[in-house]
Amino acid sequence: VASKGTGKEKLTALLEKTETKALSAIADTKSSATLDELKREYLGKKSVLKQVNESLKDLATEERPEVGRAISSYREKIAAAIAEKEEKLQKSGGEPSDIVDLTLPPRNQPRGHYHLITQVERELVDIFVGLGYQVAEGPEVDTDWYNFEALNFPPGHPARDMQDTLYVNRGNGTDAVLRTHTSPVQVRTMEKQKPPVYVVVPGRVFRQETLDARHSPVFHQLEGLAVDESITMGDMFGTIKTFLSAFFGRDVRTRFLPSFFPFTEPSAEFAASCVFCDGVGCNVCSKTGWIEVGGCGMVDPNVFLAVGYDPEVVSGFAFGFGLERMAMLRHGIGTIASFYQNDVRVLQQF
Ligand SMILES: [Zn+2]
Repeated sequence: VASKGTGKEKLTALLEKTETKALSAIADTKSSATLDELKREYLGKKSVLKQVNESLKDLATEERPEVGRAISSYREKIAAAIAEKEEKLQKSGGEPSDIVDLTLPPRNQPRGHYHLITQVERELVDIFVGLGYQVAEGPEVDTDWYNFEALNFPPGHPARDMQDTLYVNRGNGTDAVLRTHTSPVQVRTMEKQKPPVYVVVPGRVFRQETLDARHSPVFHQLEGLAVDESITMGDMFGTIKTFLSAFFGRDVRTRFLPSFFPFTEPSAEFAASCVFCDGVGCNVCSKTGWIEVGGCGMVDPNVFLAVGYDPEVVSGFAFGFGLERMAMLRHGIGTIASFYQNDVRVLQQF
């Protein structure tokens, strides 16, 4: 680093320059992490101090004491500045962001809330629990038996075409399906339990649909099943009218149109009188005065046989509908995709 004779001035000048720089950097430091770095930079193995120390042996003997004193002075000043700064930082609580000022007003922490689909699901489940129903859940990937066959859709039955199914290859030669409806859970519930059964099944279902304003390949259903001795269609009509009125917050009229489902006989599509125009006709109900809600019917005896119930002894009804549709109707949401785009501007409204 230094040649004999002129080395002393160079080394002391280098130390002085470094010292000024170091002291100013230490003074500006606001965190103990940076202070540690400065300690390494100005006192550590790769520091100027170390270099000067090593050059000491190359100096003329009479020059060494003066440079030696300069080294000591440098080390003491830097070490003292660092120690002083450390104490200051500790007293003020370290990082400025760690300082707790108890006089500040509390920060407003938004807590978030349930998604509208979850809200609607919980509200409906509450209504049914109030009517004495229990809640059941089941797998979203299920076998063909539970999704179709036990529900009276034999292989090749044309009604299977009503539900465009997503099949899952399980790799062992058997197919599984993404359930096309929540009805497999009805079968699973009846297998596990003897009548009477009063159960509602909320859950996610899947169909091979193209996303548009009203269709989505993933949506939610809620269905109900009541099985007991001497259950009649009158019980079904009353139950559906009761939950629709509770959900829409006013007394609705109901309409049942004959329909077909493999697992119920007779079957019907049910509708509520439009809650926006009270049946007069508006845009929401397409001027009909009625809002189509879902399907229902009396449980087919073949379904009872598949789960080991005696259709001569018990009877029952089932109904189901889409949760998205209920939410769209009640809150005037135009497109089903709004539920799945995670746009907070939409979600925050509910
Ligand atoms: Zn209307």
